[in-house]
Amino acid sequence: MSEVLALDKVEKGFSVGGHRVEPLRGASITVARGDYVSIVGPSGSGKSTLLHVLGCLERPDRGVVRVEGTETSSLSDEALSTFRGRVLGFVFQRFHLVDRMSALRNVAMPLDYRDDLTLREKTERSQHALSQVGLDSHAEHRPRQLSGGQQQRVAIARALAVRPRILLLDEPTGNLDPETGASVMRIIETLQGQEPDLAVILVTHDMDLAARATFSYRLEQGQLRRVPPVGEGIR
Ligand code: ADP
Ligand code: MG
Repeated sequence: MSEVLALDKVEKGFSVGGHRVEPLRGASITVARGDYVSIVGPSGSGKSTLLHVLGCLERPDRGVVRVEGTETSSLSDEALSTFRGRVLGFVFQRFHLVDRMSALRNVAMPLDYRDDLTLREKTERSQHALSQVGLDSHAEHRPRQLSGGQQQRVAIARALAVRPRILLLDEPTGNLDPETGASVMRIIETLQGQEPDLAVILVTHDMDLAARATFSYRLEQGQLRRVPPVGEGIR
């Protein structure tokens, strides 16, 4: 199998006001090119923390994070953020769109620091990403002029503008009604069908959503356990 992303015995904790929480206590996972992986766990179990470590937004306290064969601990913060900006697309739990910018500008944001692309290429990529989520006609809308589902699609387009090899999504349907959530999932799954090499990792507390993935894991006591595919066990 061709590994694109791996964690090996990753630990990550936080101390706030003398109180210690340790959401990740030896989490390991290997993701191959083209995999569609879901990770479930109740609220507060550490899913966002896990996704931030997978997405190289945070470094682990201990353990190894490997992206496309590179151990991230070998990279400076600056090199890591450059690397991240070319390989990983991240969709945050709460959209994180900038309200004073148009949808198109929001989508172009992760390309701001790319000196290997011309302004024209950046604009073309951003327009293409918006069309991939069906929002070409909303390029000039501000986030607050869009519905929740449309905002989530802009957030997905922003991750796609990078042309990532790995797409990470933190509860992509969590803030949406069921019907809108289903349409967002259709967009994600269509993308994956069109780009068979793209690895998609999706965090959710929705078991039905998780069951759609090819591989499913549960975050439990800081560690990842494979959940048997539908028909082989618990469901
Ligand atoms: P989930 O996404 O599964 O709801 P999180 O990863 O957001 O869980 O949080 C797991 C635990 O880690 C919680 O107890 C949360 O309060 C704590 N935590 C997460 N991020 C931070 C942070 N930056 N500082 C302090 N505590 C944090
Ligand atoms: Mg979370």
